[in-house]
Amino acid sequence: MNTPRPPLLTLDEALPALLARARPGLATESVSTFEADGRVLAQDLVAELQVPPQDNSSMDGYALRCVDVGSAHAVLRVTQRIPAGSHGVPLRAGEAARIFTGAPIPPGADAVVMQEDTQALAQGQVQVNTSPIPGQWIRRSGEDITRGSTVLQAGTRLGPAELGLAASLGLDRLPVSVRPRVALFSTGDELVMPGTVAPANMPPGAIYNSNRFFLRTLLHRMGCAVSDLGIVPDRREATVQALAEAAQGHDLILTSGGVSVGEEDHIKPAVEALGELHLWSLAIKPGKPFALGSIRRTSATDSAHFMGLPGNPVSSYITFLLLVRPFLLRLQGATHVEPVRQPMRADFDLGKPDRRREFLRARRNAQGGLDLFPNQSSGVLTSVAWADGVIDHPAGATIRQGDQVQFIAFSDWLS
Ligand code: AMP
Ligand code: MG
Repeated sequence: MNTPRPPLLTLDEALPALLARARPGLATESVSTFEADGRVLAQDLVAELQVPPQDNSSMDGYALRCVDVGSAHAVLRVTQRIPAGSHGVPLRAGEAARIFTGAPIPPGADAVVMQEDTQALAQGQVQVNTSPIPGQWIRRSGEDITRGSTVLQAGTRLGPAELGLAASLGLDRLPVSVRPRVALFSTGDELVMPGTVAPANMPPGAIYNSNRFFLRTLLHRMGCAVSDLGIVPDRREATVQALAEAAQGHDLILTSGGVSVGEEDHIKPAVEALGELHLWSLAIKPGKPFALGSIRRTSATDSAHFMGLPGNPVSSYITFLLLVRPFLLRLQGATHVEPVRQPMRADFDLGKPDRRREFLRARRNAQGGLDLFPNQSSGVLTSVAWADGVIDHPAGATIRQGDQVQFIAFSDWLS
């Protein structure tokens, strides 16, 4: 019996529905600040101190009182020496303090004169060859961070700068979302693992499993703990069994291939047998056969999330970035899950409009425009390696050379 085909969902319909299912998200844990790169902050970080903690010198030179100098060539007595890590004593009239970058300004001083504008004299004196302005070469306490301010908000994805910032607040551990536990499967009887059969000996009809390599890498970049469960044969029972087992210890099961409606596509019926299919088939190109569902856990009342990606490598890659990435980030509590789309100039024509929204592999050229990879077929993984991003191109439209298009850079998307 043929079930009627549901109308294709648009990406704008699917994405909010998918993100809603990523709530409630994961538990939180405390990790070393050193280990927190790529993780999502679970609580606001509020500063318990000022950064910098005191007014300090931004130059090697002399701290002094501007009133003692007036016009240039004043001579002052150098009564103290303040290297970084120490602190001085109050400065009196007619005195200067030898000071170094980062050292606290002594009480009473209101400016620093850099050593290049001075001349050291005999008997501990210094001649100042410039007229200082109050405040010069002084970095103010709290100039970077004021006590009580929220420095990083919950939902921020942590990178090198954020880790440094957290450390400047004295934090050696950070509260983050736990890593999503993801089970990864490839489906397809034609798949052969690189290393098991030499290229010269590949049997007819066999291809190497490429999806497994980039999906695993992409999952790691999203901060996931990955269980790579290998290749599932194109059989209904094997598919059901693999999915049922994977549901136990994982937050998400991710598969590639077998998600269309062919007789050898077992993913959809297997998910329906074990749980629920929430959405299936999107109006995007590449990537139409995409499935979102959930699979019940036998021992519990809850279920694991399920996402089925198309088998064609480009479709798999692009649907990961469009759908799996935001889902995994939101599951970890991330606020920003969408990449920036920037307007750019197309330096090519695209004559044939498509009924689906397209994600065209393109590369920035030296003239500030975009070139298109000539073969946009969903099996041509070369297009993704060649490109440095995709054009988000609306359904039913053509492109004329010089038109403005919306570009998503892979550098943004893969970080
Ligand atoms: P499917 O979605 O299973 O119908 O597969 C669509 C196309 O993608 C077929 O040509 C498959 O051979 C190919 N394909 C499926 N899985 C993979 C994989 N893991 N690596 C490379 N190609 C694949
Ligand atoms: Mg297949």
